[in-house]
Amino acid sequence: MHFETEAIRTQTERSQYLEHSTPLYLTSSYIFEDAEDMRASFSEEKDRNIYSRFTNPNTSEFVEKIAKMEGAEAGYAFATGMSAVFSTLAALLNSGDHVISARAVFGSTHSLFTKYFPKWNISHSYFNVTDVEDIESLIKPETKIIFAETPTNPGVEVLDLEFLGKVAKKHNLILIIDNCFATPWLQNPIKFGTQLVIHSATKMIDGQGRVLGGVTVGDPELIREIYLFSRNTGPALSPFNAWVLSKSLETLPVRLDKHCENAEKVAEFLEGEPNAENVRYPFLKSHPQYEIAKKQMKKGGNIVSFEIKGGIEAGRKFLDAIELCSRSANLGDTRSIVTHPASTTHSRLSEEDRLEAGITPGLVRVSVGLEHVEDVINDLKQALAAVK
Ligand SMILES: *Cc1c(COP(=O)(O)O)cnc(C)c1O
Repeated sequence: MHFETEAIRTQTERSQYLEHSTPLYLTSSYIFEDAEDMRASFSEEKDRNIYSRFTNPNTSEFVEKIAKMEGAEAGYAFATGMSAVFSTLAALLNSGDHVISARAVFGSTHSLFTKYFPKWNISHSYFNVTDVEDIESLIKPETKIIFAETPTNPGVEVLDLEFLGKVAKKHNLILIIDNCFATPWLQNPIKFGTQLVIHSATKMIDGQGRVLGGVTVGDPELIREIYLFSRNTGPALSPFNAWVLSKSLETLPVRLDKHCENAEKVAEFLEGEPNAENVRYPFLKSHPQYEIAKKQMKKGGNIVSFEIKGGIEAGRKFLDAIELCSRSANLGDTRSIVTHPASTTHSRLSEEDRLEAGITPGLVRVSVGLEHVEDVINDLKQALAAVK
């Protein structure tokens, strides 16, 4: 069946009330017929719900949909995108293991690698997204995982999934892709040899700035380890949020198509603005990885970045001059959002680390929403004019 149909018709079994739309299963636990039923359920001879930290009909529906959309066989849903990233890595890594990651990763993922994993003797090496050919030289005997995002946050760089998949296969490494910016509608990393795909569902999957959520899908044996880790450590997605997110998936393709259409127009507008430099949008011909983006993505997504002339002060001025768009740290909302990473989300990094991650002082990230695109463009135009 087609993606759009799966997104709408994948549904938890109906109850005796024959409800049309999936109800909310707000229950922490489930009951058993008798002692034998309970024993068989706990020993996993029976596949059924036991406790909502393990599974729940709403979270299972959400996971099943994402798995179908990504071409995966199994998955597990988490309370946030970061709990998905952390639990996935923590479940699979042992003391002494080594991870190779793109340097341009989400800020909190960077903190996992640099601040927390070293506590458990897990090391990492970073590669620059522009030097992806170097990754083979970083592989050590103790390397277990290659981790990357594409497109990257906030620089909107694109990594070659087919290349990463080949390297991972050749060296028997687990390739994990944070597919948050593309969503399963625009890009399916499993097709290119990725074992595990992670999403922050908080972003475009919810799409309306309401709930937090995360999910990991992919290879069933790896998911089994992640599931066992998670059922004991407790990062489970709440049934209410799962219900909201599963509903959101029904409209993901139509919402995202419109987001992409608007974002492309914003990117084209910015390219014509003299004080907006290095406009980055995967489907702009000027994007350094345009050919790769075309190969692996259906459309360019809703995030556009650019550099404002004048550095950090110009970035701050631009943010102050914005009237319609929101100044917020989120992305992937119906409302367009602008952020200035150097003075906000990435301000705690040293200037050197920021530059290495592609965050220049004047970098501005725009998450293009679903307002009329002319209104968004007019707001950006007047804010750019205010900086001059
Ligand atoms: C937001 C984000 C995350 C973290 O997701 P939360 O739901 O906020 O925990 C991880 N990766 C990327 C690329 C993100 O944009």
